[in-house]
Amino acid sequence: MQSSLIVQKYGGTSVGSIERIRAVAQRVAHTVRQGHQVVVVVSAMGDETDRLVELAEQILEGSPTTPGQQREWDMLLSTGEQVSIALLALALQKLGCPALSMTAAQVGILTTRDHMRARILEINTERLRYHLDRGEVVVVAGFQGITSPVELEITTLGRGGSDTTAVALAVALQAQLCEIYTDVPGIFTTDPRKVPEARLLTEITSAEMLELASLGAQVLHPRSVEIARNYGVNLRVRSSLQPLQGEEDHLGTLIVSPPPRPRTGGIEMGLAVDTVELDRDQAKLVLVGVPDRPGIAARLFQEIAAAGVNVDLILQSLQFSPAAPSAQPSNDIAFTVSRSQAKVAAAVAQQIGWELGCAEVVMDEAVAKVSIAGVGMIGRPGIAAQMFQVLAEAGINLQMISMSEMKVSCVVAAERAGDAALALGEAFQVIPHLHRPETPLVPQDGDPARRQPVRGVALDAKQSRIGIRKVPDRPGTAAYLFGQLAAAGIIVDTIIQSQRGYHNGIPSNDIAFTVPQEQAAAAEALCQQVAGQLQAAGVDSDHAIAKVSIVGAQMEAYPGVAARLFTALAEAGINIEMIATSEIKVSCVVRREQGIPALQAIHRAFGLDQPQG
Ligand code: ADP
Ligand code: ASP
Ligand code: MG
Repeated sequence: MQSSLIVQKYGGTSVGSIERIRAVAQRVAHTVRQGHQVVVVVSAMGDETDRLVELAEQILEGSPTTPGQQREWDMLLSTGEQVSIALLALALQKLGCPALSMTAAQVGILTTRDHMRARILEINTERLRYHLDRGEVVVVAGFQGITSPVELEITTLGRGGSDTTAVALAVALQAQLCEIYTDVPGIFTTDPRKVPEARLLTEITSAEMLELASLGAQVLHPRSVEIARNYGVNLRVRSSLQPLQGEEDHLGTLIVSPPPRPRTGGIEMGLAVDTVELDRDQAKLVLVGVPDRPGIAARLFQEIAAAGVNVDLILQSLQFSPAAPSAQPSNDIAFTVSRSQAKVAAAVAQQIGWELGCAEVVMDEAVAKVSIAGVGMIGRPGIAAQMFQVLAEAGINLQMISMSEMKVSCVVAAERAGDAALALGEAFQVIPHLHRPETPLVPQDGDPARRQPVRGVALDAKQSRIGIRKVPDRPGTAAYLFGQLAAAGIIVDTIIQSQRGYHNGIPSNDIAFTVPQEQAAAAEALCQQVAGQLQAAGVDSDHAIAKVSIVGAQMEAYPGVAARLFTALAEAGINIEMIATSEIKVSCVVRREQGIPALQAIHRAFGLDQPQG
């Protein structure tokens, strides 16, 4: 009987009215009639959680900051789901389908004590099984948990967390399938509400889905994808709005995961890092003082690609503190290539740098890239900070930082790279790979859609950029800064350091990064403090940014992908303020009002609006 257990999750819109709740009940009853045991997870009705947030914000005149306020926040927000589970259970009973609802406390969904962003440790399946074995449907409240069966403190998993409840239940119950029902027919190449030409994907890898989800595609909570990947859950995203007749023709999108590895620890608390890699075949090129106007990155990387050079990491940041107050704003663009291609790349960079009047073009062949990777890093900002700390303690300076959901890489001096990898291996308890990881080959056969380098694009218009000017360039500054931010639970993305300048005669860098808008005020206040301690020149923030990103697991194997992205933006007249890449994604920061036009331009440029294959 166990093999036919299905977990179905219905989001806010899907249970947004009595009529919709009735339709969900029909679908659940239909699944039961097909011979399955069903556990249903539901969100709060419609925008109920937003309404509750507004009420609390009116009282607090802002977001909760103290532990006491965060506790009450969870107490309040968890009520939304308690309404919808009861209504759905009633609707099922009315259809003659035996059903009952349960809160997280009644089921026993145990989480960490972190209010507003708790992680699931364990789910007790005893009561669920008891009811399932009696032929009942159990409707479970999503998004909530409790700290312990004795203490019974209510926690929530973070906005959008019902998806995570559903996938975690599928793991605990060893369900055959977890279906996420939402208001669109599945995962699209981008948000179909923002780009009407977006196309439905029949399949996407969990690695790609994780990046998209973390880069603004809120269709799945990133942590639900993490759990699905770690435990090999059969996960599907489908529409709850399709009629039940002919539903087999609307199977939505399958999220494909590699075979699971054995895991220890709580459901969401496995080892964060499972590989440490060292890539010595790297050379770094930097163009200092590049004019800040549309089209520059496009031209540079087009010519680099035309010379047959494959670029690895690219970072571009605005110099916040130009040499003279009257100076024009300018950027630094830094990138890495394999050493055998360094000379060719340098010749192109020098030529363009000269034409653009750059202050300097620097090549450094004595660098290497060390990386930590693992699915368990998602939503745990402390892991990157720990990496920086380990490197700082070994006295190793960070030249470039690149982050994705599953990987953090640092470019360091070649002579210290071996030490860096060993120190990281020891700290994260894994044996480092001391050779270059293989670049995936361009897939030649199989699903033709897989031959596309870019699988999806995403827009995140809810980020702010924080910059710290003139941070002394010595080991440990990044570790200290990002350690403090992580300790405050601030999720940092897209970290960029400018190239070395001088402040009071001391070598220094500007550091910029993006954070979720609602954390910007806290991040800025903390940075002010840290800037004072480190004797940096100052802090500024920019709340009018948007981040557009392209994602594709096989992107590395296709030269010129980044150039195509920059060209699409240049042709749309959009200026790029920051660039950050990793193997699986390229993100650009642009003005917020250009976010949607940027998304549309990129979607078109990669042919995502065309039938695949
Ligand atoms: P639910 O309430 O069911 O959890 P969400 O609003 O959280 O629904 O997620 C569904 C929404 O995600 C869709 O309405 C769509 O606008 C948005 N979305 C963003 N990116 C994508 C994408 N790549 N594919 C599908 N939907 C997306
Ligand atoms: N109701 C919660 C929210 O709106 C959880 C969810 O819908 O997934 O964030
Ligand atoms: Mg959602």
